Amino acid sequence: MNATTRLADRVKLKDAHLITRMTDIAEGLADVIKLGRGDPDLDTPAHIIKAGQDALGNGATHYTHPLGLPALRQAIAANISAYGGATYAPENIVVTPGGQHAMFIIALALLNPGDEILVPCPGYNPYHQAAEMAGAETVHIRMTMETNFTLTAEMVEAHITPRSKILVLINPSNPTGTVTPPSEVRRIAEVARKHDLIVISDEIYARLTYGNNTVQPVASLPGMFERTITLSGLSKAYAMTGWRIGYFAGPPDLIPALAEINHAFAISTAAASQHAAIAALTGPQDCVEEMRQIYDARRIALCAGLTEMGIPYAEPQGAFYVYANVASTGIGATAFCERLLREGQVLMYPGGIYGDYTDDFVRMSLTQPVERIREAITRMKTVVAAIRAEAA
Ligand code: PLP
Repeated sequence: MNATTRLADRVKLKDAHLITRMTDIAEGLADVIKLGRGDPDLDTPAHIIKAGQDALGNGATHYTHPLGLPALRQAIAANISAYGGATYAPENIVVTPGGQHAMFIIALALLNPGDEILVPCPGYNPYHQAAEMAGAETVHIRMTMETNFTLTAEMVEAHITPRSKILVLINPSNPTGTVTPPSEVRRIAEVARKHDLIVISDEIYARLTYGNNTVQPVASLPGMFERTITLSGLSKAYAMTGWRIGYFAGPPDLIPALAEINHAFAISTAAASQHAAIAALTGPQDCVEEMRQIYDARRIALCAGLTEMGIPYAEPQGAFYVYANVASTGIGATAFCERLLREGQVLMYPGGIYGDYTDDFVRMSLTQPVERIREAITRMKTVVAAIRAEAA
């Protein structure tokens, strides 16, 4: 059956496999605290749900314009520029069924076999899978906890070869929660200009930052508009993962090819989801701030628990993840996650899923209320103590 294995041969499908396996184990257990998927436990705000429901009642049951509803693209353009991004004409924005879909469209449209795409490591893994599907090579830029997993211009430049074509920036980062400081984003942009790279700037978590951290959009920096594709979506900031609504925006010379492939894959994005997205972007924005504050309180509670346990972690500056080093347990992060799930009923993912080259880290999502996070810490303490006692 060659036909069924062809893709699996080219693309490492082990990450989805591991997530499925952990999910299957969790299904068989009672009272699991789920800190796995990056899927907010918070509901989509009511006015957004209503807009989606109304749209269905009003006949939004058809394909839409291939690039997305004009009113939505207007709203996206306004939203991007309101947060310091570039000024995009609506015809240079493509609405997609989720930001993840956009990664594959971009990779298939722009990468030729043999091209290199630079991806921060650890970093959201589908970029790597999209590159593999396009037959391109992923060059991992390894970051470490000593520098809080912060990407620097020097690190990027050290990985550039004559075959480098695309640089991926994920800011704030999944899985580490690191925010690349604006000054460093500017320096990285200079490197991209100097080496004629296209930048995919994944800003899907940009509205979720903590403390003094802020995100500098890439496309509005000098000389970057023509070489940047801004990728984002509503899943995270508006708790809309299930609506499958994302977008990308780019320079006029790149958009037609990207739009063509998007049309081939999706025709258009679900009409009701697009109407809901219009309500999200044009309606009151306090819901985003309320959710951000909730994640912030959870972040503080989780970090306090890890500190008590003597488990080091990267300072989470944005997104809704905490990336912690469990090497001191001595059993490896993948085995640790499985034991914690089976013995403590707490679900989290090993960093290997996000391309981590060590088996030292786990990613915890802040997708449970503070009380459940505290309970997760209590359970984790018991399992960690048991593992440490075995080793002693
Ligand atoms: N970009 C990053 C960095 C993500 O973590 C995710 C999802 O977890 C996405 C994009 C895609 O999200 P969606 O497809 O729900 O828009």
